Amino acid sequence: MPESFEKHLFITQLLEKQLNNSGCPNQKSCQILHVDGFLKDAETKAFYRNSFCEADNAVWNTCKRFQTKTALNLCPDFVMPDSTFSLDEILDRLEEGQK
Ligand code: SF4
Repeated sequence: MPESFEKHLFITQLLEKQLNNSGCPNQKSCQILHVDGFLKDAETKAFYRNSFCEADNAVWNTCKRFQTKTALNLCPDFVMPDSTFSLDEILDRLEEGQK
């Protein structure tokens, strides 16, 4: 195998790894990270940040807030990263006036 091909492969794998580890694309705007008082305390915020926001993409894309924002183009305040609501349940709660 030519050396230049190995270098190219190495760089490609390194870039893929960095992309996979860059975290959730919603980090710049997500209320979880930017709204004071949105969560009950700093420990909860740190837990969500470490467990979802800054995790590998195989993890952050399981965040219910990410999934909800992607599907509905909004995410109500009652939805947390580890919420177990289905999208239908979220829509039902929104129709009932929950925010
Ligand atoms: S809480 Fe979810 S949607 Fe918000 S930045 Fe973290 S992973 Fe992304």
